[in-house]
Amino acid sequence: MHADIDRVAVLGAGNMGHGITEVVAMAGYEVTMRDVEPAFVEEGYGEIEWSLEKLAEKDRLDESPAAVLSRIETTTDLEMAVDDADLVVEAAPEELDLKREIFADLDELAPAGAILASNTSSLPITDVAAATDRSERVVGTHFFNPPVKMDLVEVIYGDETADETAETAAEFVESIDRTPIDVREDVRGFVVNTVLGPFGDEAAWMVSEGETEVREADATMVHERGYPMGPFELSDMTGIDIGYRVRTEAGEPIPPIVEEKVEREELGRKTGVGYYDYGDGAASETLQADGDAGDAGNGDGVDYTADDVSEAFDWLRIEARIIDEAAGLVGQGVATPEDIDTGLRLGAGFPEGPCRRADKLGLDTVLEKLETLQEATGAERYEPSNHLRELVEAGRTGEDAGAGFYEYGADAGRDYTTIDVELRDGLLTVTLDRTERLNALNRDMMDEIVHVLETADLETVRAVTFEGAGDRAFSAGADVTGFAGVDPHEVEVTPVFRTVAEFPRPTLAKIDGYCLGGGHELALACDLRIATTDSEFGFPEIDLGLIPGGGGTQRVVRMLTEARAKELVFRGNRIDADTAEDWGLINRAVPEAEFGTTVEEFVDDLVSGPPVALRKAKQVMDEGRDADIDAGLRMESQAFGLLLSTEDTSEGAEAFTADREPEFEGR
Ligand code: NAD
Repeated sequence: MHADIDRVAVLGAGNMGHGITEVVAMAGYEVTMRDVEPAFVEEGYGEIEWSLEKLAEKDRLDESPAAVLSRIETTTDLEMAVDDADLVVEAAPEELDLKREIFADLDELAPAGAILASNTSSLPITDVAAATDRSERVVGTHFFNPPVKMDLVEVIYGDETADETAETAAEFVESIDRTPIDVREDVRGFVVNTVLGPFGDEAAWMVSEGETEVREADATMVHERGYPMGPFELSDMTGIDIGYRVRTEAGEPIPPIVEEKVEREELGRKTGVGYYDYGDGAASETLQADGDAGDAGNGDGVDYTADDVSEAFDWLRIEARIIDEAAGLVGQGVATPEDIDTGLRLGAGFPEGPCRRADKLGLDTVLEKLETLQEATGAERYEPSNHLRELVEAGRTGEDAGAGFYEYGADAGRDYTTIDVELRDGLLTVTLDRTERLNALNRDMMDEIVHVLETADLETVRAVTFEGAGDRAFSAGADVTGFAGVDPHEVEVTPVFRTVAEFPRPTLAKIDGYCLGGGHELALACDLRIATTDSEFGFPEIDLGLIPGGGGTQRVVRMLTEARAKELVFRGNRIDADTAEDWGLINRAVPEAEFGTTVEEFVDDLVSGPPVALRKAKQVMDEGRDADIDAGLRMESQAFGLLLSTEDTSEGAEAFTADREPEFEGR
């Protein structure tokens, strides 16, 4: 919890208000939820109860629903709601006048030091703040729908917002287990919606111009380019009128096909017809990156398949505009490439951030595409941003050039986008961090793991642990969307598993949650595995018509009995942690409460142990496993002889005689 925030008030018990209330209470804060009518408050509270029950059923609450609910108060009285609040989050309807009225009241009723935040998705924070005499304490906190599932919150600076206010808001967001990104200028659409804009817009122009068809566009963007859903599928879900309104207000030209749909009132799922036909009573859903990669194309009515993918589909038209929007925001100082990438991954389910993708495509390629389109059509939307031009002119054309939006190169200063790395007291901790895809391995993550291990300083690193970010998964697999468009002969997934397996220091996988497919193989490439009892292990590859491709088949068959190994691979079923322990797949299965201490005990031994002896032990055991016993014994005795002459061995002997703890130096 944040040191300066005890009590939170949420205004509005609607879609967003009740969700925000729930998330804030789950994090341990006292919250008051206020709406204008008792019936609205009750309805919102009911939704929270329902949602908490669901979370409890899925084992995703640390305490009982009742314990969370005990921190939530409800009221229709504004004064009561806010008079001792340290933070107020407004989630009332999206009308500027209404929000200004609310903020004027808050200025009078909320404590002088309180932070006043608005959840608006499109109104200028500056205009809302102007209704108060404390605009430096007003900030945007744009949660995504539904707050309980979506990890992202945009923290928006109004023109007058004090840095301290926005920093506190961002810290608060972290304290409720969400990821903040900074939106440093109060621009229309903030970051995520601005960058996402061309995804639907450009696709609609392409269909309007007869360049492609709806299904072809959706299928190619999903199956070739890895997006969680196609642009038209997404428009149908959010409502075609919403995009229409946003573009009209911005004074932008509207693609004819969008005009047509709006005129015919075919607005998407909510009207039963949009770009697809949903029949009667189609329920609306929300775009969410809930880790269910490959979720695309399966809604009612949405009937494109991988067969609709077209080689000729010019996806770069769409991606070039997306990338240019991102460049524009970076150039205006609105957001950093890191925050833009995080925003689009977590807020829109993009398989990788647009800045990262741009660096792979080559910014010169992107610029050229825009210039060609502009020459051909004269349309303003292809006018490249100054920042994109500047990057290209400066030779920062991307990964191949050593720099683009990001810096590359072998030096240790590399920014990782899919993992977090920490080195403390000899322990290198690698956290797989793609919570939006349950930490599934993709190409970037594999490359980054290889990079971190290859550049690790063996003088200081004594052991490595791998874990998954968030509370649901170690890693739920390999993200096949990352391989989209890759020639099958070029798919080489094993280097990462080999690099982990051969790393000359002990490695340990800390598993809490799903450990499946490629994630499971990564864990198996480690020397040791400790898991919480609610973890699950499996190889679902067979159900996709595949087999484990990261060493999984070979490692399990050596580790387990052949029958058990084949059961795992052939049936594709999951086993629980107790079974995994019983089978010898993992070292320990322990309840959540004992997980930390058990891991610590293991890690202590690994970090303080004699590095050379551990390295040799690992080497002769790994190599000897695959050799006959005589060759194995020879390897062992050579290593044994070599160790006898090390300083560590003398230190071990001295410490033993003096009855003290040895201090090994790795010599
Ligand atoms: P909603 O209509 O579901 O809920 C708004 C609630 O606010 C209603 O229950 C209404 O009775 C209540 N309300 C009206 N006046 C109020 C007042 N003076 N004080 C307290 N409550 C009051 O709307 P929503 O979808 O929850 O959206 C709320 C805000 O969040 C809007 O600004 C919206 O733009 C933004 N937002 C929405 C989404 C989304 O997908 N729905 C996503 C992000 C942000």
